[in-house]
Amino acid sequence: MNKKITLMGMSQNELEDYCLSNDFPKFHGDQIFRWLYKNNNQELENVSNIPKKLKEKIKNDCDINLLKIKKKSISKIDKTIKFLFETKDYKFIESVSMIDSDRHTVCISSQIGCNVDCDFCATGKMGIDRNLKVGEIVEQLIEVKKNTNIPITNIVFMGMGEPFLNYRNVIESCKIFTNQKAFNLGTKRITISTAGVLPQIDLFIKEKHKYKLAVSLNAPNDLIRDKIMPINKKWNINKLMLSLKNYNFFRSRVIMFEYVLLNGINDSVENAIELSKLLKNFNCKVNLIPFNQILGNYKRSEDTTINKFAETLKKYNIRVLIRWSKGEDIDAACGQLATKHES
Ligand code: SF4
Repeated sequence: MNKKITLMGMSQNELEDYCLSNDFPKFHGDQIFRWLYKNNNQELENVSNIPKKLKEKIKNDCDINLLKIKKKSISKIDKTIKFLFETKDYKFIESVSMIDSDRHTVCISSQIGCNVDCDFCATGKMGIDRNLKVGEIVEQLIEVKKNTNIPITNIVFMGMGEPFLNYRNVIESCKIFTNQKAFNLGTKRITISTAGVLPQIDLFIKEKHKYKLAVSLNAPNDLIRDKIMPINKKWNINKLMLSLKNYNFFRSRVIMFEYVLLNGINDSVENAIELSKLLKNFNCKVNLIPFNQILGNYKRSEDTTINKFAETLKKYNIRVLIRWSKGEDIDAACGQLATKHES
């Protein structure tokens, strides 16, 4: 039996090669690329600049899509929409669309599950199944775009999975997101968030990628970080900061430090002072994320504690933003993605 080729996720070069190897001129690869990523709303049948014979060939040879929307949950609190997708091998992933005036941010997944095992994270409790393919990453955006009809302005790799443990596919998908013939997003509109996978942070710096880097720090010292993020035992704060200094050297771009506030664990004024000392030489911004209660041992910090933590950082000249969660009523907030409705 002939195995079908999957178009979704293919680069322009790959599509051109596909055309050439089937005796069609190379430039049709460019047309398929534009159709696939810019005009996927349109049925292939109705695409006027692709010859009928090539359309027939594609129909016979290729699968186009990789994901199916299984469920769409819309928040009653804000306009957040959570998408549950089913993959071809019957696995589930989630993406979240968040609209804030003229900003439409889509939080996408990079893996099915995650094995980094951060103690406060619902996805971490699932373990890892597999990495997502380039096409599965890109198609999340296509489906969100189709279903919201609102132009996407920002992408954050903060959904399920550790993006730097699926490094190549994440970087390849970013190339499609920024390609003018596809999504045409600026590099600084894409944020890749890592829990601190050091070899890939170093590679990211070495390869001089311009996407924004976010580091999920969550603690001002190893004692606390070891407890809530086991990855810290492998690559501790000191090692992490040494690598990130290189990022600082090479670019003027700000590093985002994500900090989930956990009641009584990492949210005291002393913790804030220690954090500001740790970050004082970085061109950075701290995103404070009030914890979203999931099953487990952790509790959300009081709002007064959260505000006090932010004020302390400001006093020490650290730029800070409190990211009050979106879509909590549909379990779409940070750390809540876990495809619990798959059964
Ligand atoms: S916070 Fe991110 S890296 Fe940590 S377990 Fe959850 S998905 Fe994985």
